[in-house]
Amino acid sequence: MNKQDSKSLQALLDKRPIITIIPHTSPDGDAIGSTLGLYHFLKNQGHDVQVIAPTDFPDFLKWMPEADQILIYPNQESRAEQRIADSSLIFTLDFNNLLRAKPLTSFLQKSLATFVMIDHHQQPDTYATITYSDEKASSTCELIYNTIVSLSFQEAIDQTIATCLYTGIMTDTGGFRFSMTSPQTHRVAAVLLEKGANCVQIASEVLDSYSIDRLQLLGTVLDGLTYLKEYKTAYMSVSSKILKQFNFRKGDTEGFVNYGLRIKEAELAVIFIENEEDNLIKISFRSKTTLDVNLLARMYFNGGGHINAAGGSMSISLEDTIAYFLEVLPKFLSLPNAYQPMDTL
Ligand code: 5GP
Ligand code: MN
Repeated sequence: MNKQDSKSLQALLDKRPIITIIPHTSPDGDAIGSTLGLYHFLKNQGHDVQVIAPTDFPDFLKWMPEADQILIYPNQESRAEQRIADSSLIFTLDFNNLLRAKPLTSFLQKSLATFVMIDHHQQPDTYATITYSDEKASSTCELIYNTIVSLSFQEAIDQTIATCLYTGIMTDTGGFRFSMTSPQTHRVAAVLLEKGANCVQIASEVLDSYSIDRLQLLGTVLDGLTYLKEYKTAYMSVSSKILKQFNFRKGDTEGFVNYGLRIKEAELAVIFIENEEDNLIKISFRSKTTLDVNLLARMYFNGGGHINAAGGSMSISLEDTIAYFLEVLPKFLSLPNAYQPMDTL
């Protein structure tokens, strides 16, 4: 965060505002880690602060410090709506567009609060008074670390904050493997470990916490993987019938898409997940090299994200979504800008 923005943010905080922090819908490790990390920092400074999640989040993040204090919108709609209406300062973390906070979008649009966006997705929207957006950052948690350091001192980071921030950095970098993992990411992670984050325990809570149903769902989904040699593309689909068969719980399919990239030659991995509740097919894209899945998701799948990880959705059937994907894939790959220049990574 630059000096001007941290000064402006400090001035906003000095007014002792009513603060609400919002992660994106279907929050992941970085969304929950960054919101809780900022929440603990502000709470330690005596602020009135509340995290509101637009939708529930996976069990493998529920162990995080004071995760039980997060107001989950579908469970407490009127309380959450009232809190947003009462807020004078709203942080939106780990997303770049208010549509990514559904079903809270309209309440956020109506709010008279000052907005601060902290995010690392491409093409940030312009709704916030302070926008701290860095698409080269590994994670929003890394940006929250920078924010805390520029607002006050590293000393303000205690073991609880370190645990939250380390979790998001670990999950968004796929365990320090993805392309935005920089020397600075490792430096920040090192400080967080020194502050008391327990990397063994965090990895175990987040990664080695599958139910048997979840592991067997993964087996079934992998069994149905299709590899298109010509397009170096692996795709998988998950029907709502299969989800029911394995007693689906939120977060169970998280990370499945990455397995497609385990194929040595694969450059693109895709998963299509049927969501009966919302009548939507949720799609996740992952790529190796400079293949720009943010562009693919934006152009054809009502979504977006990063160059190597993006998502979108379609409101047609699972079969039709896959047929549509197979139709647009060759078109997309033949575009001159399907691959970003090497120096963007
Ligand atoms: P995932 O595939 O894990 O849901 O998301 C991968 C990345 O793409 C994340 O950074 C996420 O924020 C972004 N993303 C996922 N779904 C959507 C979507 O529907 N719209 C946009 N704009 N971004 C998405
Ligand atoms: Mn993130």
